[in-house]
Amino acid sequence: MTDTTVPLALTLPSGIERMFPTLTPAQVARIAAHGRVRSIQAGEVLVEPGQQIVPFFVVTAGQIEIVRPSGTTETLVVVYGPAQFTGEVNMLSGRPAMLRVRAKESGEAIEVDREHLLALVQTDNELSELIMRAFILRRVELIAHGLGDVVLVGSNHCAGTLRVKEFLTRNGHPYLYIDLDRDADVQDLLDRFRITATDVPVVICRGEVVLRNPTNQQIANCLGFNEAIDQTHIHDVVIVGAGPAGLAAAVYGASEGLDVLVLETKAPGGQAGSSSKIENYLGFPTGISGQALAGRAYTQAQKFGAQVMIAQRAGRLDCERLPYAVEVDGNVRVLGRTVIIATGAAYRKPAIDNLSRFENVGVYYAATFMEAQLCRGEEVVVVGGGNSAGQAAVFLAQTAKCVHILVRTAGLAESMSRYLIRRIEENPGIVLRVKTEIVAFEGTDHLERMRWRDETGNIEARDIRHVFLMTGAVPATRWLNGCVALDGKNFIKTGPDLSEDDLVAARWPLPRAPYLLETSLPGVFAVGDVRGGNIKRVASAVGEGSIAISFVHRVLRE
Ligand SMILES: Cc1cc2nc3c(=O)[nH]c(=O)nc-3n(C[C@H](O)[C@H](O)[C@H](O)COP(=O)(O)OP(=O)(O)OC[C@H]3O[C@@H](n4cnc5c(N)ncnc54)[C@H](O)[C@@H]3O)c2cc1C
Repeated sequence: MTDTTVPLALTLPSGIERMFPTLTPAQVARIAAHGRVRSIQAGEVLVEPGQQIVPFFVVTAGQIEIVRPSGTTETLVVVYGPAQFTGEVNMLSGRPAMLRVRAKESGEAIEVDREHLLALVQTDNELSELIMRAFILRRVELIAHGLGDVVLVGSNHCAGTLRVKEFLTRNGHPYLYIDLDRDADVQDLLDRFRITATDVPVVICRGEVVLRNPTNQQIANCLGFNEAIDQTHIHDVVIVGAGPAGLAAAVYGASEGLDVLVLETKAPGGQAGSSSKIENYLGFPTGISGQALAGRAYTQAQKFGAQVMIAQRAGRLDCERLPYAVEVDGNVRVLGRTVIIATGAAYRKPAIDNLSRFENVGVYYAATFMEAQLCRGEEVVVVGGGNSAGQAAVFLAQTAKCVHILVRTAGLAESMSRYLIRRIEENPGIVLRVKTEIVAFEGTDHLERMRWRDETGNIEARDIRHVFLMTGAVPATRWLNGCVALDGKNFIKTGPDLSEDDLVAARWPLPRAPYLLETSLPGVFAVGDVRGGNIKRVASAVGEGSIAISFVHRVLRE
């Protein structure tokens, strides 16, 4: 076996002690109380990639090494010595191991199973901070170095590739990307796995399973995202949607002892996860990327024991009997004594026939670092007059040649925060085009040209290859199957917004009125962007998700 040694720790300029801390004897003793002491023999494999049950090890004598196997070679990731511990965030979620854990030198280790590790991080503040921080930093480094169990073969001109990249990135899963158009040694890999260029995107899981143009659900299944989750029993609360509202409900619910199951069709973070920088969320004076906020919230929810099922779309709510059942695509039914609907909203799309052909290959609904890289140095268009359009324009103007903001109205004053309007006005790289709308997209594999109609009615063609659509939201309520009262725009009505007529029509059965955030169905709550009257902001979604839990407790006591 060839050994390609690139110790991760040696490539890192700083933060090594935070990522790979050395525990004090007192800390080791506290961990020992949760596990068992065992001997380790040099060369003994303690965990294989793909292994579902992954223990946590603290080395007390000898050494443990972490390696990434790949074909006949291995990459050394890190070596742990006495008083150091193994693991990263997968250990909290119960997902399979991505890397091999092996004893390098014989000695002794404390072995702790996941259940006891969760108990430890929930009860020991000092160790919780130390272990959680190390796990998160290690995951960040694995992502940065593409050190994991996934190889993605694709092309930047292919919409499917961008979708898979987004799915893996937003789920915080490290992957190695091989670009068919750029990487010289790609042919070897294609031959080895009998892949042709027409199969892309191709996902290779653990060097074994080859998925050709897979759905997100197939990727999640292959990587075992949901394997550790018990779908059979009745949960205290089923939360549908893992945007800021759903994640907040999960954190509060799980930390207050509820049995919480979250269903998410894409990735944790929702719309906020696609935001390049959230500047108005309390406590982050320099802003935080939606991805970072979502990642932290997701890890926090898992720390408290919430179970989060990824790539699982709630297809129908069955509200005929108690407990409520949420039917997940693929015929799984999950049962909850209460349900929190946090499915958010999605941006409107202009009526342009061939729009879907260019989605992710020139037309985007989010402006993150990833999209910004694709249009570096080029002219771009942002459509919309709301805050997300404003933020996208300001963010993209840092790297794009010129940003055109297209709005149908006569200005931004009614729809955008004052601070953003000022930044747009002061930025010479941003051009505001009022009373202007896109009428056509043109291109073959990628958007190449677009036409817009300006305020004089003149149609102008521009060689612009990147358009960001940020034009208002439609709530994700179709799956609710008529179970709860909706308003005229299909947002969910809750609490005091429900009229007498709504409650009569819904046959509200209780002597009490619906609680704040409760829908016309007892014990079913709606929070965040999906709720009528909600202020479409991260903070309000988080606030509503947290508040709903206090009412869930009341319903469970009723
Ligand atoms: C680009 C962008 C930038 C933004 N910037 C800011 C900002 O700077 N500050 C700010 O305060 N707000 C900002 N917002 C608004 C903010 O992100 C939203 O208000 C917030 O995300 C709403 O949270 P939510 O949890 O209610 O819904 P969402 O974020 O929409 O999350 C809903 C989740 O439910 C999932 N889902 C939907 N249907 C189903 C189903 N049937 N089954 C399972 N899962 C489902 C979705 O995949 C999604 O993950 C921005 C929005 C965008 C798009």
